[in-house]
Amino acid sequence: MKTWKTHALPQLPGVMPALSLHETTRQRVVTLADTGPASIYVCGITPYDATHMGHAATYVAFDLLNRAWRDADRTVNYVQNVTDIDDPLLERANRDGVDWRELAVSQTELFHADMEALNVLAPEHYIGAVESIEWIVPEIEDLVAQGLAYAVEGSAGEPDGDIYFSVEGASSAQKLAEPESPWWLGQVSGLSQEQMLPVFAERGGDPARLGKRHPLDALLWRVARDGEPSWNGSSLGAGRPGWHIECTVIAQRFLPKPFTVQGGGSDLIFPHHEMGAGHAYALSHTPMASHYVHTAMVGLDGEKMSKSLGNLVLVSQLRADGVDPAAIRLAILAHHYRSDWFWTQELLEAAQDRLDRWRKAAPRAAEGSAKVLLAELRAALSQDLDAPRALAAVDAWAELSTVSDASKASDRDADLVSDTLEALLGIEL
Ligand SMILES: [Zn+2]
Repeated sequence: MKTWKTHALPQLPGVMPALSLHETTRQRVVTLADTGPASIYVCGITPYDATHMGHAATYVAFDLLNRAWRDADRTVNYVQNVTDIDDPLLERANRDGVDWRELAVSQTELFHADMEALNVLAPEHYIGAVESIEWIVPEIEDLVAQGLAYAVEGSAGEPDGDIYFSVEGASSAQKLAEPESPWWLGQVSGLSQEQMLPVFAERGGDPARLGKRHPLDALLWRVARDGEPSWNGSSLGAGRPGWHIECTVIAQRFLPKPFTVQGGGSDLIFPHHEMGAGHAYALSHTPMASHYVHTAMVGLDGEKMSKSLGNLVLVSQLRADGVDPAAIRLAILAHHYRSDWFWTQELLEAAQDRLDRWRKAAPRAAEGSAKVLLAELRAALSQDLDAPRALAAVDAWAELSTVSDASKASDRDADLVSDTLEALLGIEL
């Protein structure tokens, strides 16, 4: 699928220090390997509604990582999916009386426009669920052949033949806290089965589905129902894939096994990334990813921002209201990616003020000040993507390292400050 347009990155002098990131499975900050190609998969949207601030914050956070790696001269392979067929998309299309394909195309295009406006670098591979079905089917057949997936008999109005992943079959009894160790249920999330059950039900799982071997077994293939689109599933029968296997197959097709970072919002840790890790290990006998990194939630008015609550702040709406997208990006970057926060109008105004101050300061850079700022930004971002610290460094530079008489400013420093903010923070002055 085509993606959005992105700007070429300015090359900066000097080097980025080794990166550290908070790793979900180990629950601590770890230092990443700092040589060789880097690879990342960030779960994409289900295109049934416009991009809200929670999505935007996640993609901006991983954009900082992408930029940091590129600044360190690493080759980056970034893969993102778009779940262009799934229950919520069909439900929304039915509710609104529109064709699900048109809804998916229009909302995917809106997402791309939002990402382009927010100056998020486009992924190398942007892959849809529908185009992946032909790759997914043989992988599910493989799991069935291994005895790690099984068909459920129909009951209570559900047809025969939905295929589920057996968590007990695939889960290893060995719990070795090593990156190359086998998968077990709870490896990614650290949750007990008692903790998993309510979360599973809340996030699209079906623990009460009759005929499953284990309540936490996850759907791999949903056989065709009347009134729902379906695709050729060979021995599985006509149907469509589950969400976890979609991401697993796309990631394993376009990235190394394991790849460097699996990213997403913290609401994807369980079941989505847990199950994806299980599918990947069952299929390839290697872990899905070396590191799992998750972003915190963005709320509004004291509540989590979510489609079900209807309290979404949409990037496209802010843009339509004339808000500078760079100010939206700065409002996001004012929070560390691991801290939950609430969107407010005051935050946006503060971000716009900050952007104005930076824009006024940039042409008045004092001689020798830009290299110092660059080193401070690299230090902040290399330590678990500390964007608030990076922003504070730019504030201090704008306050203390600029000259009042623009004719005494250093053009070289002004250029390097602009390049630094563009390359590392994605902020165009
Ligand atoms: Zn995913």
